[in-house]
Amino acid sequence: MAFETPPLPYDYAALEPTIDEATMKLHHDKHHVAYVTNLNGAVEKHPELGKKTPEELISDLGSVPEDVRATVRNNGGGHVNHTMFWQIMKPNGGGNPTGELAAQIDKDFGGFAEFKKKFEDAAVKQFGSGWGFLVYKGGKLEIVTKPNQDSPFSDGLYPIMGNDVWEHAYYLKYNNRRAEYLSAWWNVVNWDEVNKRFAHARK
Ligand code: MN
Repeated sequence: MAFETPPLPYDYAALEPTIDEATMKLHHDKHHVAYVTNLNGAVEKHPELGKKTPEELISDLGSVPEDVRATVRNNGGGHVNHTMFWQIMKPNGGGNPTGELAAQIDKDFGGFAEFKKKFEDAAVKQFGSGWGFLVYKGGKLEIVTKPNQDSPFSDGLYPIMGNDVWEHAYYLKYNNRRAEYLSAWWNVVNWDEVNKRFAHARK
């Protein structure tokens, strides 16, 4: 198989009570695995695609053969988004942003509290399935939302962090209360990892 689902870097129950064990099991073992399976199906038809990283594939969708382009967009995006998602969370996470990112958040949003509010507001308004992302564009942090499994990589931007607002990410525990999920999610953010990604985004 060209691509593989990375194992979760912690136990399924490790993010309790913010994200419940059942949600993590389904989300990682069923949803993420399905994206990877479907992406591998596209690579079977066009083996040359397997020589690229999933990030490279979704960064240049125009070069992906048309018959599998939508499959790569949706499932390559799903693979990349979820691989990031597991890494930017951790048990006993949360607290305040660290390092250079903390200073940049203060500069661009006027503080962490204001940033959180803007991020939650953007993500709660994403109609249907999608993601809220933080990107670095023109020397500034910016919050963007994307439908489905679309990725900032497809706009030439590196996602520093993102939260999944597909119902599969929160419905078992939070039901239709997406705003409640979004405000609780900060408790599991791995700011050191997000800060590393910020350093990468600035390169
Ligand atoms: Mn998801």
